[in-house]
Amino acid sequence: MNHYLDFAKELNLILSEEDIKLDEPMKKHTSFRVGGPADIFVTPKNVDELVKVIRSCKERKVPYFIIGFGSNLLVKDGGIRGVVIKLSKFSNIDIKDNVIKVQCGASLAKTAREALKYSLSGLEFACGIPGTVGGAVAMNAGAYGGEMKDVLCNVTILDHDGNIKILSHDELELGYRTSAVLKNQYLALECEMNLKNGEYDEIKKTIDDLMGRRAEKQPLEYPSAGSTFKRPVGYFAGKLIEDSNLKGKTIGGAAVSEKHSGFIINKSQATAKDILDLISHVQKIVKDEFDVTLETEVRIIGEEI
Ligand SMILES: Cc1cc2nc3c(=O)[nH]c(=O)nc-3n(C[C@H](O)[C@H](O)[C@H](O)COP(=O)(O)OP(=O)(O)OC[C@H]3O[C@@H](n4cnc5c(N)ncnc54)[C@H](O)[C@@H]3O)c2cc1C
Repeated sequence: MNHYLDFAKELNLILSEEDIKLDEPMKKHTSFRVGGPADIFVTPKNVDELVKVIRSCKERKVPYFIIGFGSNLLVKDGGIRGVVIKLSKFSNIDIKDNVIKVQCGASLAKTAREALKYSLSGLEFACGIPGTVGGAVAMNAGAYGGEMKDVLCNVTILDHDGNIKILSHDELELGYRTSAVLKNQYLALECEMNLKNGEYDEIKKTIDDLMGRRAEKQPLEYPSAGSTFKRPVGYFAGKLIEDSNLKGKTIGGAAVSEKHSGFIINKSQATAKDILDLISHVQKIVKDEFDVTLETEVRIIGEEI
């Protein structure tokens, strides 16, 4: 039962009809390919529409949640109450000298490929990270020794009152898989990244190398959300899981990847509950075996059935 049908009618006054969906299955918008329906799912076309949507949510006390490509999300089977906002129509990438100005709904990998075209170095690490620039800012995404913190100059955000502000590098409080954007649930609109002039062939070689390493080590053939757990200080999550004899462990359609134990995959039509049960099981066994607490890197949202 959708409790927000009247609110959806109000949003119809702000957004075009094709930009509002009711009871939208979140499995269509997450890389895990699981998740129940969002009551209202919107894709505003511009900042004006976005600000109006957020102000309306605030006024009517309707919860809202921003998603990128859902590549770090586990949405529970009961779905999400309120409004899910996707910035798929905010995807402009603008390069001037060695500064990239990019809207936060743009693909991070595509942005890194654009940087390559201009022989700009610094985003090589990001080529294989699925997701939007906004998601990468919120999560301070990183890989192979690079992270968003290294390249970000500033991020333009929308706060909960619908005010637009620019956060400087320091104000972004970028840390291991966290940021002020994530902590305060700001909406990242666009950002500027500072890259270095480099050699096209060198940059391409690094990208190809990192992509090759991913394909070799990661179970990219199955839906997942990347590394399920954060790296505990002094350990590697995958190694702890493997040493706990959990490689290949399945619950329902969810499995600990045989290829990389740090990944829980949707092996065969898993539900979010299968994945959550497997996460809890892994956490318990690793705690019992090694007295280490595995914290999820994947963000778990929504309601159970
Ligand atoms: C195969 C695979 C490999 C991966 N490898 C890596 C890796 O090497 N390194 C790494 O760091 N991650 C990795 N990930 C995880 C994921 O790709 C990153 O966390 C990515 O940055 C998430 O981006 P997204 O747009 O999909 O965000 P989502 O998953 O949609 O959202 C993640 C969080 O960001 C918030 N968010 C999204 N957009 C915005 C916005 N515009 N404003 C404010 N908040 C926003 C959401 O509210 C949510 O809290 C991997 C995932 C997969 C599936």
